[in-house]
Amino acid sequence: MSTTIQAIRGMNDILPETIHRWQQLEANLQDWLAAWGYREIRTPIVEQVSLFKRAIGEVTDIVEKEMYAFQDSLNGEFLALRPEGTAACVRAVIQHNLLYNGPQRLWYAGPMFRHERPQKGRYRQFHQFGVESLGYADPDMDAEHIVMTADLWQRLQLPGIQLEINSLGDSAARNRYRSRLIGWFEQHAELLDEDARRRLHSNPLRILDSKNPAMQAMIEAAPKLADDLDEQALAHFETVQKITASQGVQFRINPRLVRGLDYYNYTVFEWISDQLGAQSTVCAGGRYDALIEQIGGKPAPACGFAIGIERLLDILEASQQTCTPASPDVYLVHAGETASAMAWDIARQLRAAGLQVIRHCGGGSFKSQMKKADSSQARYACIMGDDEVAASTLTLKPLRSGEAQITLPLGDAIARLTQEETR
Ligand code: ATP
Ligand code: MG
Repeated sequence: MSTTIQAIRGMNDILPETIHRWQQLEANLQDWLAAWGYREIRTPIVEQVSLFKRAIGEVTDIVEKEMYAFQDSLNGEFLALRPEGTAACVRAVIQHNLLYNGPQRLWYAGPMFRHERPQKGRYRQFHQFGVESLGYADPDMDAEHIVMTADLWQRLQLPGIQLEINSLGDSAARNRYRSRLIGWFEQHAELLDEDARRRLHSNPLRILDSKNPAMQAMIEAAPKLADDLDEQALAHFETVQKITASQGVQFRINPRLVRGLDYYNYTVFEWISDQLGAQSTVCAGGRYDALIEQIGGKPAPACGFAIGIERLLDILEASQQTCTPASPDVYLVHAGETASAMAWDIARQLRAAGLQVIRHCGGGSFKSQMKKADSSQARYACIMGDDEVAASTLTLKPLRSGEAQITLPLGDAIARLTQEETR
């Protein structure tokens, strides 16, 4: 006997019973992005491994431990399922020379893949909506991203979400900080775990991200990056804060916020929910002025952010926001050979009038068809038998109110159904 095949661990089916929650959120997100003047870009799910190594950094959790990388058995190419959306978006912008037409406000959406330990809010295939603004150097764009995400939470009436921001300065500042940090960690070498010792010289900033409780006090007391920022970085950061505050968006400066990817500089930010337990960050982003050049494009500044859709849906569910599933308007029941044939035609007319119609398939008695009509959640069963065919009428049986059924000429029946729709 063969065993049944299951979905890959950490990769979820989204079933018809819950899809309406996704669709409604996706529609809201698209309206919001349009309102802010962003245009969609779609890139492939598979890219060269080297793109992510170059963009995200070799010594990061994502590239070292989480990336689904494999060799194409047919031509030997080294490929990866995308773990995030920025690298591919920037690759496409360079490849198609989009910045030639001036700066770009772009968004993308879709599945991302990371080989993490699956738990609530953390999956191996998860979904992001992301935004990238390319060709913008000034702090008003950093602020736009912060203010537009605040606008989204308001549109969605999302409770309990807080903003943390920080500045990583330029690469010179981070190099100065790096040396001070290595010095600090060397002084406390006995406290470092294996991961931290490995990263001490390759990527010491990442150690600040460690969740190891035994290292928290030492990390808490470590030197702060803010002390290494130059005047320009400070001025940029101050303007971001000023605009953000002027738009009524509250924030907290978190000097430990360094983000898990190498490409960030200047502003970084995270929106953190108090409804999600351990996986609390629902949106994260920042500025990445060096990335375009790093991937092989002409140098241009940029910034962006990404929203975790599963986590956003969890918050919406926790706050008990109702969202009704879509159901058909009409379930078309037909008995008799002529009626069955005509039912195709009637269904077409009803659909052309804008109604959602299920034409019963598979035959069966009138009674069993009515049962199916009931469980379809349709508003009406439309019944066609020989009498209706002969008289060119349709019998409407309301399924969700106690109203009596009524037989009307076809045109009147369609009018009745569409009027109800717009009421
Ligand atoms: P975390 O610290 O939670 O691992 P991250 O810094 O790795 O997050 P980003 O790469 O910034 O996450 O991705 C942006 C957002 O995508 C996160 O804030 C989160 O909402 C979502 N996200 C990231 N990884 C996962 C995952 N494995 N499962 C579900 N959502 C995720
Ligand atoms: Mg992560």
